[in-house]
Amino acid sequence: MAVKIGISACVLGENVRFDGGHKASTFCTQQLKPLVQYVAVCPEQAIGMGTPRPAIRLQRTADQQIRLVQTRDNSLDYTSQMLEFTHGIMPRFAELSGYIVCAKSPTCGMERVKLYAEDGTALGKMAIGMYTRELMQSYPWLPIEEDGRLLDPALKENFVSRVFACYDYQQTMRDGFTIGKLVAFHSRYKFLVLAHSPVAYRQLGKLVAEAKLFTPAELQLRYLTELMQAMRQIATRKQHANVLQHLQGFFKKLMDNAARQELTALIERYRLGRVPLLAPVTLLQHYLRLFPNQYLQQQVYFNPYPEQLGLRA
Ligand code: SF4
Repeated sequence: MAVKIGISACVLGENVRFDGGHKASTFCTQQLKPLVQYVAVCPEQAIGMGTPRPAIRLQRTADQQIRLVQTRDNSLDYTSQMLEFTHGIMPRFAELSGYIVCAKSPTCGMERVKLYAEDGTALGKMAIGMYTRELMQSYPWLPIEEDGRLLDPALKENFVSRVFACYDYQQTMRDGFTIGKLVAFHSRYKFLVLAHSPVAYRQLGKLVAEAKLFTPAELQLRYLTELMQAMRQIATRKQHANVLQHLQGFFKKLMDNAARQELTALIERYRLGRVPLLAPVTLLQHYLRLFPNQYLQQQVYFNPYPEQLGLRA
């Protein structure tokens, strides 16, 4: 089964925006496309608003409700239609491993969407698009990212890591969740989680160790939710360097002095930002081939997503 990712139809290049245009993302339409199966949705078109259509926006009412209304005539309210559509489509998304939404949209935006008062006063960029808000509530573990933020290399790498980890977890548990499968999965993700968050690394370890305190359904969801939260944190150079040093430790007694110094120097050059992550990882993989180690060979840290995305270069 392919990695399924939900996506705002306009980000995929479909001419569904209110002005008849699109917001195609090159990363989504070219780099990521061959590796995933997209589920494209335009909620505004799906509720029959047509294209082109008048602009809409989010409005806060006197009783603190958020409504989706037409910008020029706020008596035209699309809230009920949007919520009905959204609630109806949500069950179809249980198999998704990620979702890419269009930034700033009152329907699809993930954060910092403009909010207005009933009299038209701008209240600030403080809302979530109505459709995406429901998506986030329905699937709190789902990796969601905006098209604009995917232009940032660190955020793009982070999102892709989460998507492939989520997919791996879904595939692992597809025929039923067991504690044994969870322990094996967690063991493979230890170094990747450590790179994202040393604190979460300890918390997830504790959760797995206390597995018997939870019902299987509770544990299955809780682990995925906590894993995805942990991986939301950007893996910094300092944290990657820490992981690389841990990995180096496995070969310490097997390498001669010169080789050890070369690897130490390369990790330091990476930490200082002089070489990409791929450099020390490749050298470590070389030693892994020379000195096979089953525990390390299964570590997802070495290959968290398809190499052709070039995100570690
Ligand atoms: S942002 Fe969402 S609602 Fe607006 S055009 Fe894109 S897919 Fe449609």
